[in-house]
Amino acid sequence: MRESPYPMISVEAAIETILQHVRPLTPVTINFTDALGFVLAEDIDASEAMPPFAASAVDGYAVIAADPSPVRRVIGAQPAGSMGTLTVTPGSAVHVMTGAPLPAGADAVVMIEHTSPEGDSSIRLHVQPAAGDNVRPIGQDLAAGQRVLSHGTVLGAAEIGLLATIGRTHVSVYPRPRVAVLSTGDELVDPHEQPRPGQIRDSNRYSLLSAVREAGGQPLDWGRIPDRAEAVQEALESALRQADAVLTSGGVSMGELDLIKPYLAARGTIHFGRVRARPGKPVTFATVDGIPVFAMPGFPVSALVSFEVYVRPALLKMAGHTHLYRPRQRVIIEHAIRHEPDRVEFQRAVVRRHPDGRYTAHTTGYQGSGRLLSMVGANALLVLPAEQETFPAGSELEAWLIAPVRDVETPANN
Ligand code: AMP
Ligand code: MG
Repeated sequence: MRESPYPMISVEAAIETILQHVRPLTPVTINFTDALGFVLAEDIDASEAMPPFAASAVDGYAVIAADPSPVRRVIGAQPAGSMGTLTVTPGSAVHVMTGAPLPAGADAVVMIEHTSPEGDSSIRLHVQPAAGDNVRPIGQDLAAGQRVLSHGTVLGAAEIGLLATIGRTHVSVYPRPRVAVLSTGDELVDPHEQPRPGQIRDSNRYSLLSAVREAGGQPLDWGRIPDRAEAVQEALESALRQADAVLTSGGVSMGELDLIKPYLAARGTIHFGRVRARPGKPVTFATVDGIPVFAMPGFPVSALVSFEVYVRPALLKMAGHTHLYRPRQRVIIEHAIRHEPDRVEFQRAVVRRHPDGRYTAHTTGYQGSGRLLSMVGANALLVLPAEQETFPAGSELEAWLIAPVRDVETPANN
């Protein structure tokens, strides 16, 4: 019996080891219009108050609230966009538009819907206003100097709008990690090619490039590498020079042409080379010149599940995220599940939420590590602990939610 020289560590220890060796990338300054999805690398304060002047919140008439007269003479109009010169006095009103500065003297605005015309140049109020009605005071939304966005915030639509509001056109963010993705294997051909006997199409490069992009990284297609030591070396060396992280597939098992581990061991430090998990036992993590190298096993499901479990949190950390993990949910399994109890297993599953709030899961059929179809449509990795072989229907297990959970249709939803 030949044993791998690499100790088999737990999934938790593997993730922890990786996170100890990856760091947020050096921040860069970018235009705010390019900043969607980036993580802020600075705190941002509002330079000015918002609104910067007392403004009408509605279309209507600016008045003095304490003035008891039900009819007011309209002395002019105040549009949005400039400061006016009109002053409201007892018995008068100024027609104002939404967003217009409140005219001098006025302390309330009566909505146009609560007024009616009275003669040629007056209006009648149908409500008695109180001071402040329909007026947005200076600084109601933002005070000058107020912290509006904190370091670590993920910039979404609202945050981009806020940056525009306060005139912050450039922001410091963590860059997206550039990840060189390459596949190894003499049996592989490109997707457009017709495989000859003994060959198969390379799928990992495409699933992993997509997974990198989905995780917010910049995927760099580093190609398909034959199982020759010089080719592996050449590809990895160029990747290490140009990328923030390297992601390989294949060539980490016990075969004679599994060249990735020997190369990494000679050139850098392998932090682990086996994990007590199925799929993905031979998943390998190394650093070379400080660059993290994630070596995925070749079986398509092993590669993608290993990416999900080990690589995605690392890429998120490099991109400045502090929330690194998928949501975890206790679920009730809809059918009995058996597995080999020697390792923890991540089975691909569909989790659904029921009207009564329960979450249930069923697996996606045959769970072989070559069967990519077992991941198609799956929204969860169902965690089957080691040491237990059978899980009866109705058992509760943990699921890692990798895509949104659907609600079970109820008649009312149709
Ligand atoms: P390996 O990890 O290189 O021993 O490969 C394990 C299995 O995964 C073999 O059956 C390979 O043919 C298959 N495989 C390796 N790389 C890929 C790939 N890029 N796309 C699809 N299958 C692959
Ligand atoms: Mg191979």
